Amino acid sequence: MRGDDRFVLVGGGPAAYAAAQAYREAGGGGEVVLLSADTEPPYERPPLSKEFLRGEAGEDELPLAPPHFYRDHGIEVVLDDAVVGLDTAGHVVHTASGREFPYHHCLLATGAQPARPRIPGAVHPNVRTLRSAADGRALRKAAESARSAVIAGAGFIGCEAAISLSRMGVQVTLLCPDELPQQRRLGPTVGRKLLHWLKCEGVSVLTGTRLLGVDDGYRVRTEPVPLLDTDLVLLATGVAPRAELARQAGISTTEGRICADERMRTSAPGVLAAGDVALAYHAAARRPLPVEHWDDALTMGQIAGRTAAGAEATWTQPPGFRSLLGERSLKYVAWGDGFDHAELVQHEGEAFTVWYTRKEVVVGVLTHDADDDHERGTALVQAGLPLPAQQ
Ligand SMILES: Cc1cc2nc3c(=O)[nH]c(=O)nc-3n(C[C@H](O)[C@H](O)[C@H](O)COP(=O)(O)OP(=O)(O)OC[C@H]3O[C@@H](n4cnc5c(N)ncnc54)[C@H](O)[C@@H]3O)c2cc1C
Repeated sequence: MRGDDRFVLVGGGPAAYAAAQAYREAGGGGEVVLLSADTEPPYERPPLSKEFLRGEAGEDELPLAPPHFYRDHGIEVVLDDAVVGLDTAGHVVHTASGREFPYHHCLLATGAQPARPRIPGAVHPNVRTLRSAADGRALRKAAESARSAVIAGAGFIGCEAAISLSRMGVQVTLLCPDELPQQRRLGPTVGRKLLHWLKCEGVSVLTGTRLLGVDDGYRVRTEPVPLLDTDLVLLATGVAPRAELARQAGISTTEGRICADERMRTSAPGVLAAGDVALAYHAAARRPLPVEHWDDALTMGQIAGRTAAGAEATWTQPPGFRSLLGERSLKYVAWGDGFDHAELVQHEGEAFTVWYTRKEVVVGVLTHDADDDHERGTALVQAGLPLPAQQ
């Protein structure tokens, strides 16, 4: 087996999928092999905490592409076979089943996995996390017979899942370690709005409450509330990048992520990294940016695919995400590494915009039902301009 012109993709998420597609679109003519630890081809993760969890979207809406897509584009998909070794000198990857795949280019797009806090009971099988489609199916099934649920963590996955479970008729208690949901990331103004929305959806939010442990998978110990008995526990306590392969192979990593340049090239020749696992240099921000967003995984994957095909592409689009809290949508574009001022502009009805600035330059914008501001804000963030006087 020769790897002279083979592009091996490690991972079955949006970054690997987009890389395979972009490689072909850019004229890449080598063999393409996508190796995934997942048991199903690349699928949408965002609906797993939203409409898929509530049973409003079916299985047929999950796949990123129909099966013939891979055939038509000459992409071999190998499932349920995790890559366990990367030999950067020999240009070959090894899988758990003992197969070897020599490569000319290799993309590490292994994403992230839910981080379980180091507290008693966190790894109990009844204590759930939500990352894969299998997790989503299991959570939905458990929710169908649960009367109550405790969700730890008020990030977007925690908030979205809380609203979904509440709409399924489950009494949901959301543990928020800060005074307000997402206060540190988005500021108190947005935190208050999120809290209001959660309450409107019937979610009981315990702010300033830390999870201390879970006994038998169902008795939740917290501070300051001592004990909560529940039928279902979900940890939505953040994610950890899956960078072990790169570390073992001696590829540069920082803050647990694989270092990459603006074309997604790592420190090892021919090895690229993209998506949640990567810490890539952003050409417009002029610094490396850690991001954990769907659209950015697609963008970074596309850049990696073009790089492997020998085409030009650099990471310049400002990062951002969309979240759906019930029917309420939030769009956010930001460098994501801090702001010193947040200004709320309230529009008609519930619509609003929050402008984030640092030294008077726009570094982020968050909108609810204000798409013009989202567009304008994206351009301002990218250009590094101040907010025009009239808002
Ligand atoms: C429930 C949920 C809802 C979300 N909602 C949103 C949203 O609304 N908006 C938003 O912007 N983002 C959202 N996200 C985040 C978004 O899904 C991630 O940022 C995105 O999936 C990252 O893509 P990725 O390709 O880097 O990694 P992943 O999607 O994590 O994919 C990694 C893949 O690599 C595979 N893998 C790992 N290790 C190996 C190995 N050793 N060998 C082979 N394969 C391996 C995994 O099985 C997986 O297939 C959500 C995430 C979740 C879990």
